[in-house]
Amino acid sequence: MAKCVKCGAPLREGELYCHVCGADLRVTTRPKRTGEPKRRRSANVCAIVGLSLAFFVPVAGLVLSLIAKENVRSGRFDKPYKSLADWGFAVSVIMIVLTLLVGLFLVLFHSVILVELLELIVKLAEMFISAI
Ligand SMILES: [Zn+2]
Repeated sequence: MAKCVKCGAPLREGELYCHVCGADLRVTTRPKRTGEPKRRRSANVCAIVGLSLAFFVPVAGLVLSLIAKENVRSGRFDKPYKSLADWGFAVSVIMIVLTLLVGLFLVLFHSVILVELLELIVKLAEMFISAI
């Protein structure tokens, strides 16, 4: 049963003001969330960023998703984000495998394209450096 925050008297259902001391209960009747909402939020962010990164930077996504999964196990996590962490993990693994396969394919069959691609990256890097 809920208690008045001010005087500690047991409250009746639906009371707006404490019948003992008259304290305004509308703000405080909601059960207070104590504990670690901040940590929880950062864990949720971890899952979201992990999933987003999984598509572009698979290794970083994998690491973040693993952190998020670890947070699920230790309990500081909102439930909807559990599946997000799982998805981030799955997508990361798939993207890493795909990247490795594509890389392998390029090395084995299209090494010329790979070399040109690397040269292009080097050129872009040089342009970037000279621009600074
Ligand atoms: Zn009261």
